[in-house]
Amino acid sequence: MLITLNNKTLQLRSPIVTAHGTTTDRHIIEITAEEDGVFGYGEAAPLPSFGAETFEETQIALTEWSNNPDTLPDPPVARSGAAAALDHLQQSKLHTPLPPGAVAVQALIGAREISSVERQISDAINDGYRAVKLKVAATDTASDIERIELAIRLIDSRVLLRLDANGGWTRQQALTVLTRVDASRIALVEEPTSVPSDWGKIKQETGIRVGADEHLTDRQQIDRLIELEAAQTFVIKPSILGGPPATRGIAALAAANDIEVVISSFLDGPIALRTARDLALELAPEQIHGLGTAPLFVEKFPQDVQPIDGHLHRL
Ligand SMILES: [Mg+2]
Repeated sequence: MLITLNNKTLQLRSPIVTAHGTTTDRHIIEITAEEDGVFGYGEAAPLPSFGAETFEETQIALTEWSNNPDTLPDPPVARSGAAAALDHLQQSKLHTPLPPGAVAVQALIGAREISSVERQISDAINDGYRAVKLKVAATDTASDIERIELAIRLIDSRVLLRLDANGGWTRQQALTVLTRVDASRIALVEEPTSVPSDWGKIKQETGIRVGADEHLTDRQQIDRLIELEAAQTFVIKPSILGGPPATRGIAALAAANDIEVVISSFLDGPIALRTARDLALELAPEQIHGLGTAPLFVEKFPQDVQPIDGHLHRL
């Protein structure tokens, strides 16, 4: 097997502000695995603030793996990209393309200023999105309440409003914000606090479904979330969780415990978005996924990973 690596940088149109910090661009390693004239593609792009390795560690691990492809790299982002390339290579060897299909995706609203939030939500609705995800807990509770109320005013009840606190609220802040707004209009809150044992109380007090995202790190953590009944939704990022094989494993665990699955981008480039889109089609074709991130970049992504009418299309 021949593995080649190619570095590239993608620029975000405007910085994405979360409780973990601000992201302005993405440094990506594109992975090509070739065997007998057949190709498999993967991509690795760590965001260290989300608990992944550094870019340098990804690069070193993938370079070692390219010389010794029998042993997958250890660091999670490098491992996920390598596993994705190998999974795609196996698929390509079947010489049977996956059938065309489409999955619904949400629009991500990452802006901090209220005027930008208003414009981004209006654009998302006009573009046909069926769900809007608002980043919260990156500033203060008063502005969170203001932005959530604005979002509720702007979207009609057929569009889902999801929130993502990235663990940035305390339990009291989460309860303050979520009991001040019309909780019946909020379909999901991801990682409301950094402590999953808080989440049951938040679900109980507000009725809002809680999603686990950053806490889905390894089997031990996932088992603990299940034991605590902390989350009703698992937001799975294939590009940090070990690629397609690990994603399938977590989705099976979720299904066995009556937990919904949303497949999510890690502000991915085109190749990892394609991997995630195919997993979404395979594992939860009726769900609205977190894969509408292509328009956040200055670079124009290929058509099959660009949201069109709120969907990604496998052509
Ligand atoms: Mg999240």
